[in-house]
Amino acid sequence: MRDATPRGPGSIELAGISKIFPSGAVGIEDVTLSVAPGEFVTFLGPSGSGKTTTLNTIAGFIAPSSGAVVIDGRDVTDLPPNKRNLGMVFQNYALFPHMTVRENVAFGLHKRGLGREQVRERVADALELVRLEALGSRRPRELSGGQQQRVALARALVYQPPILLMDEPLGALDKQLRDQMQVEIARLHRDLGTTFLFVTHDQGEALALSDRIALFRDGRVVQVGTPEDLYARPNSRFAAEFIGESTSFSGRMAGPGALSWGEGVLRGADPNRVPSGERATLVVRPEHMRISSTSADPADNRVAGRVSDLAYLGSHRRVGVRLEDGTRVVLEEPADPSRGVEYGEEVVVGWRAEHGVLVAGGSE
Ligand code: ADP
Ligand code: MG
Repeated sequence: MRDATPRGPGSIELAGISKIFPSGAVGIEDVTLSVAPGEFVTFLGPSGSGKTTTLNTIAGFIAPSSGAVVIDGRDVTDLPPNKRNLGMVFQNYALFPHMTVRENVAFGLHKRGLGREQVRERVADALELVRLEALGSRRPRELSGGQQQRVALARALVYQPPILLMDEPLGALDKQLRDQMQVEIARLHRDLGTTFLFVTHDQGEALALSDRIALFRDGRVVQVGTPEDLYARPNSRFAAEFIGESTSFSGRMAGPGALSWGEGVLRGADPNRVPSGERATLVVRPEHMRISSTSADPADNRVAGRVSDLAYLGSHRRVGVRLEDGTRVVLEEPADPSRGVEYGEEVVVGWRAEHGVLVAGGSE
């Protein structure tokens, strides 16, 4: 295997990038972000939120309407893609069907002024990195979808770029292959020390892979942080609901950490400091809620309802509880068939104040 890329290069600065397309459509608005050398940063967001536009602006396929792209301290905003020294992997990897795997990976390398032997070595190293060394003589149609995606990865890695951009690279694969390729991509990132910028609309994928996640909504980055930051400390109802499962209670702030809800008050943590009187939502994750049978449970919040749905998930059960006002609470309990609640049962659900996060805004 070749030496790891030195950690030095690979920083990216996006300074207030906007893109308004000729049609007048706004692609992205004022996207500002710093990526450190060797970091794994994921652009996460729903379809149409601006992830691809941002990535293509970094790659140089799209010229921003305003703002600057700085790579390793150099303003590259006006440079063409081939002068930016980036690797890119697309979702539809479009391999050349008449060429072997080896030829696909070698394609274009000789133009870089490398000799035959060097090309051969580089290609062998790249195929080893993606564990395809045994399949170099096959053609794409003789490969599975996952293997084809590995060739696409090798084709980018063969240039040994300090930065690798990937736009939904696993989108075309089925669940099992996607899980396998996630492990491979994490391993590659560890082994190479290359900066990875990864695009996905799959929050699970983003949580599993990233050092940091930039969450996109309507062309803007609405939160940047570690997976833990976004999961445990969402700064908006959108972030809370886009990442992981949760229950949302909407009301108005009655005081610090207190939300008036229905006839009573629910207590939560208020890292976002939502002012009194403002509309707000209390967000609680399923693993922090419990069916509480006795009033001795150490719960700061309690709501009553009826079990509306149950799903067996192997390691645990997901329980849906419908409250009188229509809110569906979702929680997890151990998958123990001899205990636990039943469909239709009336239950009380409790949780501690520290496990609820208050975010600005009510129901949408
Ligand atoms: P994502 O990758 O998050 O799904 P995109 O970056 O592709 O989103 O798109 C962001 C917004 O820009 C969308 O509203 C999309 O319709 C618009 N858009 C993207 N490309 C173009 C284009 N070439 N012309 C006009 N509008 C575009
Ligand atoms: Mg896209």
